[in-house]
Amino acid sequence: MEKIINNTSVKIKQGDITKEKVDAIVNAANSHLKMGGGVAGAIRRAGGEEIQKECDKIGYCPLGDAVAINAGKLDAKYVIHAVGPRYGIDPEPEKNLYNAVYNSLKRAVEKNCNSIALPAISTGIFGYPLDEASEIILRAIIDFCEKDAQNTLEQIVVVLFGDKDFEVFKDKFDKMTK
Ligand code: ADP
Repeated sequence: MEKIINNTSVKIKQGDITKEKVDAIVNAANSHLKMGGGVAGAIRRAGGEEIQKECDKIGYCPLGDAVAINAGKLDAKYVIHAVGPRYGIDPEPEKNLYNAVYNSLKRAVEKNCNSIALPAISTGIFGYPLDEASEIILRAIIDFCEKDAQNTLEQIVVVLFGDKDFEVFKDKFDKMTK
């Protein structure tokens, strides 16, 4: 499913984010930028150890923020490591999830990227309920497209791994953009 919001194409699709042909791939990171399981593990396997080494040089990214680092062997130019909240543990989960997504899009623009792919940040190991998280993630994307004066992105792709995740995001996006 794809909609144009203020000159940016926003697409919701099912798949493996490491296969996306985009300038920047967003990782669901933790503050210490240690890539373990989930989508981080998939990105690390596809992009090689270089990605973790680059993360170790930076060492830290605050909750709700995002940092763009080179993408190793991936086709993308950058991996943007976004730190979403651990549900039930970190403070202000809604604000921090929103900011993690919004700041990822900002970092992509700062690096002159035209296209970016994002996963469902915080909804895996970090345990954010999918229904709530999908609304917050999509709200940040829609707000960025509608309101951010710096936005030069041509394409934003939200890539969902599971069938259910894809259905939830698709329905939510449809309702939010009617
Ligand atoms: P977090 O720790 O922020 O919850 P996870 O990596 O555990 O991050 O999960 C975030 C989302 O990424 C989950 O919905 C998970 O199913 C999904 N995911 C896992 N592997 C991939 C992949 N290769 N491509 C896209 N999404 C993925």
